Amino acid sequence: MATIVTGAAGFLGKALTDLLLARGDHVVAIDRRPVSSERADGALTVLVADLLGDDERVREAFKAATSVFHLAGRPGVRDVIEAGGRWRDNVLAGSRVLALTSPGTPMLIASSSSVYGGARRGRPSHEDDRLRPRGEYALSKAALERLCAGRQVTVVRPFTVAGEGQRPDMALHLWLAAARAHRPLRVYGSLDRTRDITDVRQVVAVMADLIGHPGVVNIGTGQGHSLREMIAAVAEATGTRPVVDVVPASVHEPADSLADTRRLADLLGWVPRTNLLDLVRRQADAGP
Ligand code: NAD
Repeated sequence: MATIVTGAAGFLGKALTDLLLARGDHVVAIDRRPVSSERADGALTVLVADLLGDDERVREAFKAATSVFHLAGRPGVRDVIEAGGRWRDNVLAGSRVLALTSPGTPMLIASSSSVYGGARRGRPSHEDDRLRPRGEYALSKAALERLCAGRQVTVVRPFTVAGEGQRPDMALHLWLAAARAHRPLRVYGSLDRTRDITDVRQVVAVMADLIGHPGVVNIGTGQGHSLREMIAAVAEATGTRPVVDVVPASVHEPADSLADTRRLADLLGWVPRTNLLDLVRRQADAGP
């Protein structure tokens, strides 16, 4: 009787694992990287394994699972990885997890807001909007979502997530590191671009509450923050006056992202709220 979290060594997976353990669940944490969550009382089982390897421990864990959170994947829109790597980890691994999970077992899969291709003219992206995925990452997440069609699965589309443990390739992490080292902060496109930023603690709380509600759901706040505001928060949190270096953005990066949160509010009765400065301070205090 256990809850599986795939990608448990990652930014969201670790936060979700820790939350589920705090709520009293027995968690089977699966990742090909070592998992840093710890428990002395046997409530946590760690399986260091690739989801596409034929590991018997993984197969048995899925047979016994009472719910499955599939967060493993290869995020990031900018990094260059080996050919087919993103497809492998986002689509093929997702397909394997769907095959391993018994029908009827509550399941949540992490897609991404990138499938929308950005908010059009400042209008929040709604779950029923036509998808306009741009770039390999967004296309792989759209393909992952198609695999879920006809299954009783909760597909979540998180917008930008921030807080302690943020991935090292993400903007706030990079800017905090640059500000501390008195290096210029690299900004893609323009300071006026906006992002809907959600606190990692609230993102994983939403996931824990949403599992068991099949369908597609945005995870965001419905409020945009400009990159200018984000940089001001980094300056404040680090006590620095950073120099900004604006460089051209990739065509795959939308100017703005913004979640329509009505479905989330209907399902849960609440939506995440972000106090940007508090969140950036917390991330800065947690260290790299
Ligand atoms: P992350 O890179 O920190 O964690 C992903 C984890 O998955 C890694 O630890 C990696 O080792 C593991 N993994 C990947 N492929 C695997 C495989 N084949 N077998 C075993 N382990 C594998 O990423 P994150 O930021 O925590 O994101 C988690 C999920 O949420 C991803 O699917 C991502 O696309 C999605 N998402 C994240 C954000 C965000 O802002 N962080 C936004 C939208 C969607």
